[in-house]
Amino acid sequence: MESRTIHQCQCLGCQTGEERTQRQHHQLNLLMSRLDEQQRRWLAAMEATKLGHGGTQRIKEVTGLDINTIRRGRRELDAGLATRPIGRTRVAGGGRKRVEKNNPDSSKR
Ligand SMILES: [Zn+2]
Repeated sequence: MESRTIHQCQCLGCQTGEERTQRQHHQLNLLMSRLDEQQRRWLAAMEATKLGHGGTQRIKEVTGLDINTIRRGRRELDAGLATRPIGRTRVAGGGRKRVEKNNPDSSKR
């Protein structure tokens, strides 16, 4: 998934042109577009928590993330991210190979 498109919020506030809401939601989605999968989940979870009651549903609407994805993020945050290793996007095994170029000629003069 290499999509860098920014999700367009379809909430009522954005549709009716509430400037402050539009800006906030756009910035949230902009940020989302630059994060990896798990970071998106946690950010969404945090925003949902801030909103309190109905927050998860609201953030789902704003970000277009799946409700279960946000719930999972909330569980992970509540657990102190204990199940998520630091410095790795995926738990071992997944992900793509890193391509490294080595240059054996570098010692030549
Ligand atoms: Zn919105």
